[in-house]
Amino acid sequence: MEMAYTIIIFLVGLVFGSFYNVVGLRVPRKESLVYPSSHCTSCQRQLTALDLVPVLSYLFLRGTCRGCGFKISWLYPVIELLTGGLFAFAYLELNWSLEFLVALSFISLLVIIVVSDFIYLLIPDKILLFFLPFLVIGRVLSPLTPWWDSLVGALVGFGILYSIAVLSKGGMGGGDIKFFFLIGLVLGTIHTLLTLFIAAIIGMIIGIVVLLKHKQGRQTHIPFGPSIALAATIVYFYGDSFINWYLGYW
Ligand SMILES: [Zn+2]
Repeated sequence: MEMAYTIIIFLVGLVFGSFYNVVGLRVPRKESLVYPSSHCTSCQRQLTALDLVPVLSYLFLRGTCRGCGFKISWLYPVIELLTGGLFAFAYLELNWSLEFLVALSFISLLVIIVVSDFIYLLIPDKILLFFLPFLVIGRVLSPLTPWWDSLVGALVGFGILYSIAVLSKGGMGGGDIKFFFLIGLVLGTIHTLLTLFIAAIIGMIIGIVVLLKHKQGRQTHIPFGPSIALAATIVYFYGDSFINWYLGYW
């Protein structure tokens, strides 16, 4: 039965992922989520049910629009698969628990921010504010030990990022700062610090790769959100193993 549930949750995750693409693409542009209905950004052709099956449509259409042959971004199927995969993984790790609901909300937030920050270099307040109540209620129903660790984590996450922003005179975006408030709420103090540490390493590796690929890479702005999201996902599931492994060296 667990196998059947995992597959169903994976498929549901694919559909949610497809919706999160729309949210991440439209909310930063202040567009409605429902109108206009999905269309090709190049020829404006309305997409039919056949174009909207997660992942399969992309593969079946070989990543092009049926109307004009416009290349569709690989980001869509990747985000769909990522959401489906993470939903299913969360179920396998947490089963039917309140924490599973926290995980689903947290994954949803992270995925939408990856889309938005990757495309627009923007983490909209609207998205953070939408998820705030879900995560607060989630942490009330499924608290960390001790329960106030959420609160301290949120303040520490926000405080450190805010300090970096002030000291680096704007080297850190406002969205990243508020984003870390929510991460602190979900992960607690120690894991938030670990997330920041891992995100900085991932960001640095991406920065070096981009710099080597484009010689004038100094001007390219690299969004930090995806690195933070990846680090937060790793820490959410493996934070304790990570810390134990690290402490094992001492
Ligand atoms: Zn088209």
